[in-house]
Amino acid sequence: MFQKILIANRGEIACRVIDTCRRLGVRTVAVFSDADRAARHVAMADEAIHIGGPAPKDSYLRGDAIIRAALDTGAQAIHPGYGFLSENPDFVDAVTAAGLVFIGPSAAAIRAMGLKDAAKALMARAGVPVVPGYHGENQDPAHLEAQAGQIGYPVLIKAVAGGGGKGMRLVERPQDFAAALQSAQGEAATAFGNPAVLIEKYIQQPRHIEVQVFGDGTRAVHLFERDCSLQRRHQKVIEEAPAPGMTAEMRQAMGDAAVRAAEAIGYAGAGTIEFIVDGSDGLRPNGFWFMEMNTRLQVEHPVTEAITGVDLVEWQLRVASGEPLPARQEDLTINGHAFEARLYAEDVPAGFLPATGRLAHLHFPDGARIETGVRTGDTISPWYDPMIAKVVTGGPTRAIALRALEAALVDTEVAGSVTNLDFLIALTRHDGFRAGQVDTGLIARDLDALVAASEPQPVARALAVIGLAGLADPSVKGGMTLWQPLRRTIHWQDGQAVLEVLGPGAARVTLDGQPHEVRWQGDRWWVDGSLCRHRITAHDSGVSVFGAGSLHLAPLDPLDRQADAVAGAALTLSPMPGLVKSVDVRAGQTVKAGDRLAVLEAMKMEHSLTAARDGVVAEVLASAGDQVEAGAPLIRLEDADA
Ligand code: ADP
Ligand code: ADP
Ligand code: MG
Repeated sequence: MFQKILIANRGEIACRVIDTCRRLGVRTVAVFSDADRAARHVAMADEAIHIGGPAPKDSYLRGDAIIRAALDTGAQAIHPGYGFLSENPDFVDAVTAAGLVFIGPSAAAIRAMGLKDAAKALMARAGVPVVPGYHGENQDPAHLEAQAGQIGYPVLIKAVAGGGGKGMRLVERPQDFAAALQSAQGEAATAFGNPAVLIEKYIQQPRHIEVQVFGDGTRAVHLFERDCSLQRRHQKVIEEAPAPGMTAEMRQAMGDAAVRAAEAIGYAGAGTIEFIVDGSDGLRPNGFWFMEMNTRLQVEHPVTEAITGVDLVEWQLRVASGEPLPARQEDLTINGHAFEARLYAEDVPAGFLPATGRLAHLHFPDGARIETGVRTGDTISPWYDPMIAKVVTGGPTRAIALRALEAALVDTEVAGSVTNLDFLIALTRHDGFRAGQVDTGLIARDLDALVAASEPQPVARALAVIGLAGLADPSVKGGMTLWQPLRRTIHWQDGQAVLEVLGPGAARVTLDGQPHEVRWQGDRWWVDGSLCRHRITAHDSGVSVFGAGSLHLAPLDPLDRQADAVAGAALTLSPMPGLVKSVDVRAGQTVKAGDRLAVLEAMKMEHSLTAARDGVVAEVLASAGDQVEAGAPLIRLEDADA
């Protein structure tokens, strides 16, 4: 076993790798950017080396700086985590050339799976079923369109160098093919520097089922499947293992195919074979097809650990240090069921926009495995993936594990940034999901209801007003203080309510003309006569109410309000942190409401920013290539006759 390793990553995955290293007595070296000086992974590691600026290209993607840090600290091996350099074969070559061990597969294995078209061809030769389609070299639009016709609509156009759902277009009708092809190629060229695409049959009612594999460079075993069908825009939201409805026959067929795929490329370490499954008629052993291989540890690996009892990071370290595969296939069994929910700083009603903020309050429940890279007071910065934590639960049955996930999410508390917490809770209560009827379209189909269910209810708002008035503080006895009037208006940043103290432990809160009677005893609360399970917490950025629908009220800052009023609708602000891809207007240009002003790239997606009203561009405050924070002014408009 290694004595010391360097972890070339940040956030929850760096912390998770350090946890296992500690247990195995392996010393750890963290690396960090300017934005991460005080990050949790830095605090947890035995040593930490600064490697550059906050932008990934200046730090976590700098293979040279990372290898130098490993050599300088005497680390013997590098764990890449996921994302960043984890699937970069040139980095693997450089690590090896420096005399260090890369904890993962060979550069050759990563290259073999790097492009989706070559990977599909390789898998087909190895006898692994692949999605019917065209993955040849001819990129002539007329040829691709003819291929699409032969495959039969609907078809999916995919960037061969794609990842994170980018460069992908569903085409339902032949007349839409040409335009979709052009836009997929354009996106692929910008995102991956490679416009090549492949065409695939679009599988109806698709389920995403992937198999965890583990190899020693020659032989491989599988650790069963994960179902990742709960997706939003091709991004995973909740994952589980095993897959609902899986049969022994299909599991055997998928496991065999995955092992065949891994052995065909001499795979070493942890990897995932992603399959698309036709879920329109139950699970059938001839109804799954290879999509791609992820040659790294996957975000959702904890659900596999929960059902197999294997620590996959321990296996990675053991195999990379020269030990044989820690188990034979027949030693591996499934025990119970597990779920993982990805808790993100994002604005769900605004279309799941990534968010940032300082986490003024953070609390996780016992009874769930929590993987996180942040603590109370830490900041979700615009520079990296806005994940706050992964919440993982297990149980003897699917129903029990899902109830445990719901309970764990209800007991999770985050303040200081908007999050998808309430959306995740709504998902755990979705009837189809509860019944195990999952497919990749579930979230999109029921999006409106899921988002509505996660909006704060009047009960939570009434309680938040009580908190803001200082009545939830147990030291304020019964809410009665000598100097406060019994009836007053409580203001917060974007609203107000009338509060009347009725007596000890009782008040009336009037919100939008609607009165609510709140009573309390200790930390038990009744609103309009019903006992509620909410918790009220005051912190340095306001007051939060948690439990089945969270809500945050920040006290009014009169200066903020003035600034807002002056700016009006004339300023187009960046709605989220991101990279300005293009600015489409010049100063002096006349625009109409709805015209595109600029394109912002954030979190793997491009967003058009449009004019809120008619006007003339007075000032362009950003240019293509700028990295901007949420709220940064981009374009200022003035009235045409001004
Ligand atoms: P998984 O199947 O493990 O969820 P993803 O494709 O979602 O894999 O990616 C895992 C992680 O890798 C993400 O959380 C992100 O940090 C990083 N990542 C993946 N694709 C991209 C991309 N196109 N740009 C930046 N980061 C990416
Ligand atoms: P990425 O590299 O972006 O992860 P994948 O090829 O893994 O791309 O596909 C991402 C998601 O797109 C899958 O999880 C699935 O939801 C959907 N998808 C991919 N291929 C198909 C297909 N042929 N039919 C239907 N859905 C598909
Ligand atoms: Mg994928």
